[in-house]
Amino acid sequence: MGNPFDLSGRVAIVTGANTGLGQALAVALAAAGADIAAVGRSDMSETQGLVEATGRRFLGIRADLSTIEPVQRVVDETLSGLGGLDILVNNAGIIRRADAVDFSEEDWDAVVDTNLKSVFFLCQAAGRHMLKQGSGKIINIASMLSFQGGIRVPSYTASKSGVAGLTKLLANEWAARGVNVNAIAPGYFATNNTAALQADEARNRSILERIPAGRWGQPDDLGGAAVFLASRAADYVHGHILAVDGGWLAR
Ligand code: NAD
Repeated sequence: MGNPFDLSGRVAIVTGANTGLGQALAVALAAAGADIAAVGRSDMSETQGLVEATGRRFLGIRADLSTIEPVQRVVDETLSGLGGLDILVNNAGIIRRADAVDFSEEDWDAVVDTNLKSVFFLCQAAGRHMLKQGSGKIINIASMLSFQGGIRVPSYTASKSGVAGLTKLLANEWAARGVNVNAIAPGYFATNNTAALQADEARNRSILERIPAGRWGQPDDLGGAAVFLASRAADYVHGHILAVDGGWLAR
């Protein structure tokens, strides 16, 4: 039977792989055997070095996912550059903070377009290929705000709640056709995305007090969940939102 978590010979797209959680996800999938197509707006040489150090192939794809314009190209370049597509990790995302009463249309559209619209159309473009081959694993990066309301982040909460719903919808449509669609909901992780919270002494303290594990997550904490959902071990897991949160939701 072999190792059920082995990803040798698989090709994975990871969006937003230049830094933070995306970089850690790309490296974890590569360490489990997958070749990586890393999608991002900026330089990805650090991720390239880390992926190649595992012995896997790395393809960098420059794309700005604030619109769906590059979506088909991302899939096409992966297929032509790495010869396949088995795993899609929709990680790229942004956040804008302001009181709901003052929240601007620009901050609404920017976040929803990147975190929800581009995620759906990338699922669709990759899904068309995966449905044709009869197999594939899609992992969307959700959030605690796929379950909770949050505060001062209305477009982010709407987008991440939407990602959870979309994950379940796609699972319903594609589960019987060999394509698994699931999500990972990270708790509070120390990255650029949460720099403002970490820097705010009062918020930082109240967040830490609520995390049973007593610490912020480190990007490395997420890799195992992604390898599991990308692997044969998760063949019967569909439409699940897997929280990796130090126990946050258990409180
Ligand atoms: P980050 O800001 O360090 O990384 C975000 C990534 O998305 C970067 O690689 C960035 O380049 C990419 N990106 C943003 N806009 C893009 C665009 N228009 N086109 C292409 N790439 C784009 O933050 P992170 O914490 O690593 O966030 C990664 C994902 O995890 C996001 O979806 C975020 O919402 C989610 N998340 C993070 C946390 C956390 O605590 N850090 C918690 C829950 C969910």
